[in-house]
Amino acid sequence: MLARLPKGTSDILPSQIDYWYYLENIIKKVLQNYGYREIRTPAFEHTELFVRGIGEATDIAQKEMFTFQDRKGRSLTLRPEGTAPVVRAYLEHNLSRENPLTKLFYIGSMFRCEKPQAGRYRQFNQFGAEAIGSPLPIIDAEIIASSLAVYRQLGLTDLKLMLNSVGCRECRPQYLKVLKDYFREKKDLLCADCKQRYEQNPLRILDCKKEQCRIVIKECPSIFDYLCTDCANHFNTLKYYLDSIGITYQINPLLVRGLDYYTKTAFEIVSQQLGAQNAVGGGGRYDYLVEELGGKPTPAVGFAAGIERIIETMVKQNIKVPVWDGIKVFVAVTGQEQIITALSIANQLREKGISSEMDFLGKSLKSQMRTANKLLVPYVLILGPEELKEEKVTIKNMADGAQEEISLDNVLPYLQKCILKNR
Ligand SMILES: [Zn+2]
Ligand SMILES: [Zn+2]
Repeated sequence: MLARLPKGTSDILPSQIDYWYYLENIIKKVLQNYGYREIRTPAFEHTELFVRGIGEATDIAQKEMFTFQDRKGRSLTLRPEGTAPVVRAYLEHNLSRENPLTKLFYIGSMFRCEKPQAGRYRQFNQFGAEAIGSPLPIIDAEIIASSLAVYRQLGLTDLKLMLNSVGCRECRPQYLKVLKDYFREKKDLLCADCKQRYEQNPLRILDCKKEQCRIVIKECPSIFDYLCTDCANHFNTLKYYLDSIGITYQINPLLVRGLDYYTKTAFEIVSQQLGAQNAVGGGGRYDYLVEELGGKPTPAVGFAAGIERIIETMVKQNIKVPVWDGIKVFVAVTGQEQIITALSIANQLREKGISSEMDFLGKSLKSQMRTANKLLVPYVLILGPEELKEEKVTIKNMADGAQEEISLDNVLPYLQKCILKNR
């Protein structure tokens, strides 16, 4: 058991890490270009933050949180999502003081105690952006544009933007009433989860994926018939902005997102190449969350995306990422008497930005050459007793096998010339 992963977790091995570096770099670059600054919050928070911030009636708060008590009996929870912690930090550090519109992004691990299934992990990684402080649909358009820009930079294709409005405090209660009326007679046809949702938050029935529920949902009343003027205007203006900057979308009145704090805009970006779990990201407006977490009423909008899901899509689309270009120089010795000189040469090379390796296992020269071959290094330095007496080393070019002797003083400039010119 000691050498086994806990259920629902995964290792990212050196052979896979280049995807992560690439992704993280693109995320940072693109979101910074859009004016977002990175924020890093802790992996766990007070449980209450998520109960309030996600909504008690959600699956996450009810079944999926990793909650534990510290030694003093305080209830803590590993963060299941990134927005509530960002808003907590925004309030705690009074970030709006610096700028009435605060634009933040994050990258990090999230934790949900879900039943492990294909493509779902208990510890998984997300990135997201939050724009806190503006009620205007122009910032909704920008959040959508910035998330699409990340995917475009990554080279992802075949993505579709799904768009909806989930209304506000004024108009949603009326729609919920109509929805409840509609589902009342058909309650027996719904799955067990949806029967519970019917009592707590009937809106959430709309995104049930079970076939028996999909049939009932298909005929249900549309929220667009119940939006108030403010919500309808917001939605129409957002569509106008998206049209104006050439972003295409599909309106989906069944798109509700899993969290209670969403208002007005809700969106999802789906990959047409993934199976049932086809969303690669999504978000929306959450005008009541800041208030719910103890701040003054502050409108906000954001999005989040699962990194594992994106990498899965990149692999499916055969997107190549820049890979580590490996070790450039192997410093080989003919005996242990040369080991200190080897170490010193290797360190000097590393300081000049030339990656270097040497033998740490006391192997023979022949075996060291095999290691160098396996590492695919372009150059091997060979240090022998004769050469050192004359303050020289042998440089072997592994591409053509050519060897030449050069003085110790010349090693650095020589290799810099050879290696850096090939970059
Ligand atoms: Zn409304
Ligand atoms: Zn259902």
